[in-house]
Amino acid sequence: MLNRFVQWMACLALSLGLSGVALAQASEPVSRLVSERLPGAPLSRQFSTGDFDASPRHMALASDAEGRLLVGNLDGLLRFDGESWRLFELPGQQPVRAIAKGADGRLYVGSFDTFGWMEPDTGGGLVYRELMGAVGLQGKDRNVGVVWEVLPTPTGVYFQTEHALHFLPYGGGRGRTWPLPDNSRAFYVDGEVLYTRIEGQGFSRFVDGRFVVEPGGGQFATRSLPAMFPRKGWRLLVGEDGFYRSDARGITRLGAPGPAAFADEGAYVAVELRDGTLMVGTNSGELFRYERDLTLRQRIRIGNFGILALGTDSEDGLWVATEAGLHRLSIPSPWSVIGSAQGVQGRAHDFEWFDGALWLATSRGIGRLTRDAAGDYAYARKDWVSYESYSLLATTAGLLAGHREGIILLRKGAQRAEVLLRSDAGIYVIQASRHDPSLVFALGGQALYLLRPAGSGWEVWREIPTGTLSPWSMEELEPGELWFGDSRGAPQRWRLDLSTGRLRDRTVMGPEHGIDADSTGGSNVYLLDERVHAVVAGRDFMFDGRGFAPFTEAPFSLIDRPKELTVRETPLGAYAFTSRQLWHRARAGHPWTQVLLPADVAGGYGTVRVTADGVLRISTWKGLVQYDPTERSSAQRRLRVTVESVSARHVRTGNASDAARNAAATFTPLALPGQDGRLLQVPAGQGLVLRFSMVSMEAGAQFRYRLPGVAADWTPWGDAVLSVRPLPAGTYRLEVEGRSRAGREAQPLRLEFQVMPFWYETWWARALAVVTAVLLITGLVVLLSRLRTRQYLAANRELEQRVAERTRALEKANRQLTELATEDPLTGLCNRRVLETGLRREWNRCMDNSQPLSALMIDVDHFKKFNDDHGHLEGDHTLRQVAQLLRRHHDEERELLARYGGEEFSLLLPGVDPAQARVRAEALRETVANSPLGVTVSIGVAGFVPGRHTERDRLLRLADDALYRAKRAGRNRVEVDTSLDRSPGKV
Ligand code: GH3
Ligand code: MG
Ligand code: MG
Repeated sequence: MLNRFVQWMACLALSLGLSGVALAQASEPVSRLVSERLPGAPLSRQFSTGDFDASPRHMALASDAEGRLLVGNLDGLLRFDGESWRLFELPGQQPVRAIAKGADGRLYVGSFDTFGWMEPDTGGGLVYRELMGAVGLQGKDRNVGVVWEVLPTPTGVYFQTEHALHFLPYGGGRGRTWPLPDNSRAFYVDGEVLYTRIEGQGFSRFVDGRFVVEPGGGQFATRSLPAMFPRKGWRLLVGEDGFYRSDARGITRLGAPGPAAFADEGAYVAVELRDGTLMVGTNSGELFRYERDLTLRQRIRIGNFGILALGTDSEDGLWVATEAGLHRLSIPSPWSVIGSAQGVQGRAHDFEWFDGALWLATSRGIGRLTRDAAGDYAYARKDWVSYESYSLLATTAGLLAGHREGIILLRKGAQRAEVLLRSDAGIYVIQASRHDPSLVFALGGQALYLLRPAGSGWEVWREIPTGTLSPWSMEELEPGELWFGDSRGAPQRWRLDLSTGRLRDRTVMGPEHGIDADSTGGSNVYLLDERVHAVVAGRDFMFDGRGFAPFTEAPFSLIDRPKELTVRETPLGAYAFTSRQLWHRARAGHPWTQVLLPADVAGGYGTVRVTADGVLRISTWKGLVQYDPTERSSAQRRLRVTVESVSARHVRTGNASDAARNAAATFTPLALPGQDGRLLQVPAGQGLVLRFSMVSMEAGAQFRYRLPGVAADWTPWGDAVLSVRPLPAGTYRLEVEGRSRAGREAQPLRLEFQVMPFWYETWWARALAVVTAVLLITGLVVLLSRLRTRQYLAANRELEQRVAERTRALEKANRQLTELATEDPLTGLCNRRVLETGLRREWNRCMDNSQPLSALMIDVDHFKKFNDDHGHLEGDHTLRQVAQLLRRHHDEERELLARYGGEEFSLLLPGVDPAQARVRAEALRETVANSPLGVTVSIGVAGFVPGRHTERDRLLRLADDALYRAKRAGRNRVEVDTSLDRSPGKV
């Protein structure tokens, strides 16, 4: 795992005559070595029914405009974008037997009893559209059987069925049909012209429904013709036994004399690769790859099943459909792999080219890989090492191998290796000095060993204990100056005395040397451009001879795991790598570029070196990946992130758990953006589930996302499905970046989408809401005012009622007041109430004093007539005059004069007996009668001493009786009660 500059330097040393011990012999042309000695297998992936939900039987291969693979499958059309498979079924689940892209961009397919084209739908899928009617096929004629071939030309497309050939011009012109003879075989197209092979006649041209045998075409009367490739002015024929040239002069044999390598293998299909090489697939499951000059370059065994179809993709992928499965091989590719398929056992830690074989130090010991003349690999594991082997170094004096129990040496031609050193602590690195190839450093778990040549081999010269140092990496700068990364601490510099092999000094580098970083997490060192770099705590420091200074440039700035950064300078340039990334710089001063190995072998980088056979090899987790500079892969197409599908995600349950919400979610596919120039529209309140794809046959597409305004930061790199929570109405711009696992970056995607407003958020709904609100408010106001009016009216009524009640109460009170009043309003005399209380009082007093009490009842005579004659007002006046007259003639102090009612008066005379009362009454009558008032009065008199058993009313009643008699006697008279005379004292 440490610096493997050895071979390059060894050659240099040899040419400069610096060394007595020559190392390896890397001088043969690289291409020869690669192709003839130990070519690797193409990097490949296999796909089966575990990858897609369809039949394992495939019949046709093609690719679409986006670079996706299309596979004609027994169950329909399969499409693969490098990440996921989709199956598009035909009506009746018919198979897809032929696929071809027309010059009009449409994808035409042939099936059974039907042919047509696949129309893209809004959801990113494909829908089958039949074209049988377009060529006039109706009724029974539609039973065309197998559609063997779809052959596009610049003006239209041919469909070859079991018994006929149909032509349909692009753009929907009139189709044509020609019957086919039973002995016609496969068809081939060259521009506008169709060719075919007629069994028994030969290679023929199809001219307006007739077959014309080409010059020399009879050679193919019985010989099968798997493929034809148009050339300028001629045609390359791939016959069952070899290659032929067909032109106006005839048909001639091409390539090496004798039958082609595939002649006995049953050539069945052929395809041209982008680099111009030709691939022939056979019924026996083998692929033959031919150079442009038709020399055989490579044989690749796919398996034992017949190869049915070959196809290519835009990333140098060769697709192979066999009777049993689907394979993708990286061809052409400078990269090939040597691993378990070639017999390698265990994980390769190191490798070296020694004695005409590739030697491997693996987790299972050491072994030797060779290839015989037939091209078969042979791996022989050697039992010299029981456990893991870590490091190899090829020298002219033998192969040195460090392993868990020490060092062994294998001399050239020897059958067994000899033990050079036993060490239970293990030997992890064996590395020749950059300055002196006769010095080898062997780094173990407890000591550094110095090896020197001895005789025809090597010996352990010195042992220097590492002490507390736990070596992580080792670099040699100046002669005898070793630098160590310590997995537990700061970097160290050791200076050795090379004449004695002793350690002169050892310096632990710290802040005083410019490394101002915490080294408790360990340190790593690497050498680049004659400078030592130390990586501590994720930072890079470069040593300038005196001290360290921070270093932030490439390759440090490019790599992902600084602690693992290893740099190897090789004849092909410098490689900087971690376990995940590999960067290359052709020459000092040139830029670093990332080496993008196909994803299935990328990663797990352990060692990079150009071995003595001149091949650059890299140990990865798949085995050894080797680079063949003569094999050019085509320029890598820029990857593009596209939207595969979009659905709206609607969740009904409100506040359930996430799981319950997901279970309750419904998904509605949405139309893909871009089609019809329409913006992606998301229904209000719904989430979004987007599936992206980055069409690349390199496995492991990764995506990251950013949604400015919602999530401004990039998400971590993740998978192709993005779920967006429901967002408020508005327009958003989602940014998507994609990359392959190997680090190939795709052109980013910006996807605008619009989240629709809820109906109540739309302008019309808002307008409606405003209008409704205005109407409502108006209505409310009207209603309220009406209610108010009604309330006012009710209140008014109530008030009025109350006023009326009050008025009544007042009236009553007034009445009561009136009643309570003591004065008669008309006459000014006492009223009847006073009379009654006065009577009660005088009655009791007179009773107590045994004095008589008399009463006069005075009534105006014929007063009714008076009113009638003079009017009521005059009557009132007269009544008042009569009252005044009576008042003047009574003693207010002792007597009580009152208006008894109407035109009647009463006069109470306490202490006056009836006789005296009669006198008073006579005087009063006279006064009135003699007055100018024009009226007279009649007076009734009664009087007695009130007794305890006499009713109080009796006095006035008796007086009234007397009055009655006075009236009867003629009026203007006084009458006295006579009853009193009979029983005065008894009453
Ligand atoms: P007689 O001699 O029998 O008493 O006849 P008379 O018309 O006076 O008696 P009567 O009882 O039949 O009628 C009483 C009249 O007195 C009737 C009424 O017009 C009149 N009178 C009672 N009170 C008043 C009053 O306050 N003012 C006036 N102007 N007339 C009164
Ligand atoms: Mg009267
Ligand atoms: Mg009267």
